[in-house]
Amino acid sequence: MRWIERALACAALAALPAAAQQSPAAPSAHFVVVLDAAHGGTDPGGRLAGGQAEKAATLALSVRLRSLLAARGIAVVTTRESDTTLDPNSRAAIANHAKAQVCLSLHVSESGSGVHLFVSSLAPAQSSLFLPWKTAQAALVTRSLALAGALNASLQHAGLNVTLGRTSLPGLDSMTCPAVAVELAPERAQDGTVTAEPDDADYRAKAAAALAAAVLEFRLEPRQP
Ligand SMILES: [Zn+2]
Repeated sequence: MRWIERALACAALAALPAAAQQSPAAPSAHFVVVLDAAHGGTDPGGRLAGGQAEKAATLALSVRLRSLLAARGIAVVTTRESDTTLDPNSRAAIANHAKAQVCLSLHVSESGSGVHLFVSSLAPAQSSLFLPWKTAQAALVTRSLALAGALNASLQHAGLNVTLGRTSLPGLDSMTCPAVAVELAPERAQDGTVTAEPDDADYRAKAAAALAAAVLEFRLEPRQP
């Protein structure tokens, strides 16, 4: 497991939100997963080799993952169900209102290989009633790292190449749930040749199945480290 510090390859990020007060999500008896299909509407994100906009690829991944989780009885909240524009604050607001136990922000990229997992680069902070909105994730970073670990294990078990990293993302940094940005990149052979593009249905299904399995595994873990 190797943690690197870099920005998401697609990195189409809006301006930082204004400071606001937000209390961390209260523990919930229900297990809720938030799926955040990145980009959308006027923000196309990157472009895949086949010409598809990233915003369409992230929505397809979200739909697939939602279907897999719902079939296993998991409550899923999505930040968008269509090609709509959403700023990072709105995404975090939806996630925080849902009081979710898992938040996955979904990206798709032509850069790199396999699946990139990013946890907020904020330093872990003690949970308190009031944290600044733009750094609310600080209280959850330890749980987010545990979530990334579960995702990493499941993806590797499925034979997918995984890169772990820390980054600062306006939406993710404001989420009061264990949160990981998942970026699906092409599957590549040892020599770098692309063996499956991120919009390949079988490849996407394989990655979604591994992500869903990890969420189910994470649900069984104790809430506090
Ligand atoms: Zn993106």
